[in-house]
Amino acid sequence: MSEVAIKVAVRVRPFNRRELEQNQRNIIRVLDEGALIFDPDEEDDEFFYQGMKQNYRDITKRVKKKLTMEFDSVFNEDAVNADIFEKCMKPLVNSVMEGFNCSVFVYGATGAGKTFTMLGSEDIPGITFLTMQELFRQMDEYGEERRFDIGISYLEVYNEQVMNLLTKSGPLKLREDSNGVVVGGLALKQIHNADELIELLHLGNKNRTQHPTDANAESSRSHAIFQVHIRMIEKKTNTKRTVKLSMIDLAGSERAQSTKCKGLRFKEGANINKSLLALGNCINKLADGSKHIPYRDSNLTRILKDSLGGNCQTLMIANISPSSITYEDTYNTLKYASRAKKIRTTCKQNVITTNMPKEFLLKKCNDQTSEIERL
Ligand code: ADP
Ligand code: MG
Repeated sequence: MSEVAIKVAVRVRPFNRRELEQNQRNIIRVLDEGALIFDPDEEDDEFFYQGMKQNYRDITKRVKKKLTMEFDSVFNEDAVNADIFEKCMKPLVNSVMEGFNCSVFVYGATGAGKTFTMLGSEDIPGITFLTMQELFRQMDEYGEERRFDIGISYLEVYNEQVMNLLTKSGPLKLREDSNGVVVGGLALKQIHNADELIELLHLGNKNRTQHPTDANAESSRSHAIFQVHIRMIEKKTNTKRTVKLSMIDLAGSERAQSTKCKGLRFKEGANINKSLLALGNCINKLADGSKHIPYRDSNLTRILKDSLGGNCQTLMIANISPSSITYEDTYNTLKYASRAKKIRTTCKQNVITTNMPKEFLLKKCNDQTSEIERL
């Protein structure tokens, strides 16, 4: 068992056409690969531009406002999905192959670039595809040494209902067993290569409450949870590893803020995204080191319990726009991202080695991802 901090990355997307047309102010200065300034004033900016010639970190110390923030990674508007994959996801793929559960979730306001990061666009693959491609590449390298079984699921949490995006069925019930939260009636789809994966991803995306790349009100309220269950059996050593990799495209975080405004907006009960609010509460409590974490307050946090406080290596990617038009949203996203840095999870390798016959390894064992045994 080892304790590790949640890794937090921030990605700033480029200005969009509307923001450019409105001549919006840029409220983010990316200092280097691990730091940014939020809302620099003139004096900060002077230091920043001097810093172009000097060492950024020296400049950081001199910035007056305490709005220099540090993260595990900061990507400016020039970064492409492949950069995020290389720096943040490749290490996770290596961990998966060793037998560690891993999760990545994208957090941020609607339009900040979450789905673009996760799924990409028609011609630019997102980190989900790049990660799976790398996973298959590494599996191929093992050849006959290891046997792999992969099952995937793709869920949506919308209005607190859990739907299976691959079969367009639900709502599914969550229940708890000794391994944690189990989604009732969820059958994993077995896949053998990246092509099968793409097909299923497309299918799932089509079935999302609204097409995920439309930045509309509906899609911004749904959470998409893509999970890969992998069973690896090393023949020579009779070793079994069972791992779960989760990739989560969260709903737009601006909903959670509006619910904090008491009074008029508070009445918009229908718009309150209970799951996102609960996620925010869990992040706060975990960061404070509280004993009681209110995972049970929403279906999203029940499903993410493992990823947030359990046996998992977790990466949070906070997506932000650089434009002053999104000032509050950006500030709130960065605030949550800073808090999330304090969260620690305890990871262990999900490995069983036995001198029992090989068949034993294929049978149901009491380990983290018993769902894979049902394939
Ligand atoms: P979200 O899922 O956070 O609501 P999207 O990922 O749908 O936001 O992004 C909103 C729009 O901005 C989309 O048209 C998307 O293609 C574009 N976009 C987001 N991030 C980038 C980026 N890094 N580079 C280019 N375009 C981007
Ligand atoms: Mg989206």
